[in-house]
Amino acid sequence: MNDKKQGYIDENAKKPRQHISRLAFLLAGLLIAVTSVSLVFVGFIASRASTQQAVANEKRLFRSTLSDRLRAIVRDQVELTSSDVSVQNLVREFDPDFVRKSFDDLWSEHHLSKVMLISGGDKVLAETFEDYTHIIQRPVNETPGLEIVVDKLRDMYRRNRVRVPGGFGHRSLRGIDQSEYAIMGFLQIDGKPALFGAMPVIPDNHEVTLPDGPPTILLSARYIEDKLLKRLNRQLKFASLTFVNGPGEREIGPFHPVLDQSGEPIGIFQWDSKTISTSIWPTIIPVIAVLSIALAALAFGIAWRIGQLTTSLQMSERQNRYLALHDSLSGLSNRLHFNRMLEASVRSLPARPFAVLHCDLDNFKPVNDTFGHATGDLVIKTVATRLKDAVGDQGLVCRVGGDEFMVIYQGPINKAHLTRLSRMLVASVSDPIFVSEKDSVNVGLSVGVARAPSDGSNAETLVGRSDQALYQSKVKGRGQVSFYSDIREPQTASQMLIRLHETSPRQALGT
Ligand code: GH3
Ligand code: MG
Repeated sequence: MNDKKQGYIDENAKKPRQHISRLAFLLAGLLIAVTSVSLVFVGFIASRASTQQAVANEKRLFRSTLSDRLRAIVRDQVELTSSDVSVQNLVREFDPDFVRKSFDDLWSEHHLSKVMLISGGDKVLAETFEDYTHIIQRPVNETPGLEIVVDKLRDMYRRNRVRVPGGFGHRSLRGIDQSEYAIMGFLQIDGKPALFGAMPVIPDNHEVTLPDGPPTILLSARYIEDKLLKRLNRQLKFASLTFVNGPGEREIGPFHPVLDQSGEPIGIFQWDSKTISTSIWPTIIPVIAVLSIALAALAFGIAWRIGQLTTSLQMSERQNRYLALHDSLSGLSNRLHFNRMLEASVRSLPARPFAVLHCDLDNFKPVNDTFGHATGDLVIKTVATRLKDAVGDQGLVCRVGGDEFMVIYQGPINKAHLTRLSRMLVASVSDPIFVSEKDSVNVGLSVGVARAPSDGSNAETLVGRSDQALYQSKVKGRGQVSFYSDIREPQTASQMLIRLHETSPRQALGT
């Protein structure tokens, strides 16, 4: 009979120790997964931040490049606008030949799209169209937004105008920023979006002076078209730089909106920044991979160590449990185990009847006295093996005291069968036991049998009654088998003791 057959399971065995290492591996895996996801997330955030930064840088670069282009337009016309000769021929006396000649020079030299001369009386006096300078007289407001430019420039001119002998002049342009005497920006000219720069015509040496009143203005412009885009891109090397006419904003990627002088949208410069947005991943992915592998190695190392410790803990616990429940000399179950198994057997009553066989060696003491304690131990071990073999797997043999053994038997419990079994136990123990090459000892066995549930249905009663039956066997002269059910008048322990002492011990030793 083994532990399982008895329905006995140690409570400690139920504890899920074996799950600890599996849990450790699971946690390690989870840790790696969480860390990897976090790293990817950090990478994603870093990548997005770097893309945003790259786009902001591109936008800043584009703004400053555009501003340089606008300033260049003003710078290119300063030679013509800041000149006594120009004041003479454009303001004081309007000389169409001078206009044509100077406009042609300006146009061809600086790749302009348009040059305009605007009078103080809100009239466009001359303008280039295609590659020809037209001398005309048309109102300023025919070009949308031009009036605003003229008004702003007049205010500016008033602030910069200085009185000089014979009329008016303009403060020196040396050392002052272009934005203090010129207007730069964007306009729709001839229906096309354009960059423009405009400033008043002013003297340089003050040999010719300006008349009182609003200034004559020169405006140069460059259409925003393919030629300009190519020039910008040669400088910036942006991917797919384009200009889209009309209002509207881009949702993805870098762009630069263009407004006219009244703040109305004219169009948008836009380009692609894709190469920049993906450039961070080749750096981040190897870092994530290396960190994840290092972490995986560490986590699995720890999990493996936990697994090892758990296994050795389980083994030592199993060993402790075994030692607690078994007799170290014979290897049989001890009294504690016997008690637990008996309780378990009692719990399965009445469905599973069983018998308790109480056995005690006869005349064992003289073995110790004659051959010594070590030989006595050898005899106990031999007896234990013989009893176990005789009982087989239908019963559990326990050593519950010095030379005292108990059997919980779950095979057939009819008297004939139990008598046969008990006699077999007596016979197997009575065979000589060789304690050395030439010495053997003879011990006998007395057996007392109590059956459950007929003789009792609780552990204490069954042990007590099997004990009474054993004493009956001792009283009857040892080497006997007695059933509790056969004892007519249960005797008190003292009566049995008297009877026992009256019986002379059998000679146990044989050599
Ligand atoms: P009886 O026939 O009436 O049973 O007498 P007995 O000689 O067998 O003696 P009893 O059962 O009264 O006592 C058992 C003896 O077993 C007492 C003790 O010295 C001895 N003993 C108890 N435990 C051990 C042990 O572990 N090893 C050895 N060698 N002897 C033990
Ligand atoms: Mg004895």
